[in-house]
Amino acid sequence: MIIISTIHEMQAYVQVARKSGASIGLVPTMGYLHTGHGALMERAKNDNQRVIVSIFVNPLQFGPNEDLDRYPRDLPGDERFCSERGVDVVFAPTVTEMYGADGALTRIHVATLGEHLCGAASPGHFDGVATVVAKLFHIIQPERAYFGQKDFQQLSIVRRMVGDLSIPVDIVAVDTVREADGLAKSSRNAYLTPEQRKLAPRLREALLRLQAAWSRGERDVPAMLAEERAQLEAVPEFRVDYLTCVDSDRLQPVNTPAPGQSVVFALAVFLGKTRLIDNLIVQ
Ligand code: AMP
Repeated sequence: MIIISTIHEMQAYVQVARKSGASIGLVPTMGYLHTGHGALMERAKNDNQRVIVSIFVNPLQFGPNEDLDRYPRDLPGDERFCSERGVDVVFAPTVTEMYGADGALTRIHVATLGEHLCGAASPGHFDGVATVVAKLFHIIQPERAYFGQKDFQQLSIVRRMVGDLSIPVDIVAVDTVREADGLAKSSRNAYLTPEQRKLAPRLREALLRLQAAWSRGERDVPAMLAEERAQLEAVPEFRVDYLTCVDSDRLQPVNTPAPGQSVVFALAVFLGKTRLIDNLIVQ
């Protein structure tokens, strides 16, 4: 496995790989890797002759009061993690390498899809995501790129951007990897105190109850959400940012689902300063 930190070197590697006819799978990450990221790498390894993992904590997707400086980082550990999974290249540029000394002035904005859910609390977040992903696609030109279903809004936005801009890359979605108690794996779980960690599985439990109610045929979505929100808000350590039901296509709120409509129940909840997200798609 090789470690590349400059765009020029990354482009040179890709040129050689392409000449040899190798297909390239890209797994974009912000590092502090866990088995959720590992599932993306395994899938990429399965589908492609070369796997490139980018590790870049992207300042464009953090708001002024968000956790950019304290976002967990462990590059040596991440390199070991990638090497053990047969990754060919770790691309880990610095911020200056990616955006230049005076920063980038260009942003990719995917309208509508980025305005609700996680975009409401952090305006500009998804512009930062779309911009860095577009940049990685241009540098690496992968056949396929792998994204987790856990960040389903990000996945929808990337898919839409790729379609709208005719970027020749297949976007592959990978199911959420969870801890034994159901908590979605996340680099941010490292922030949780032991007490918060014990409470965290309740987020998934709320989504599972919504799914169960849906399976029983309940369709009064506002009442279903209000009941679960009240349960979550009864826990003093929780602050609900959102708990909602959206259509899986354009991510607009759904109050009265159409027959056969596929929807996503999604939530973001603060435990202290740590914001966790999760979601569940129901058909
Ligand atoms: P991040 O490093 O948090 O930006 O995540 C990088 C990629 O890994 C994104 O596509 C995430 O959706 C995906 N990912 C993060 N956590 C998980 C998980 N628990 N299961 C599957 N994919 C995940």
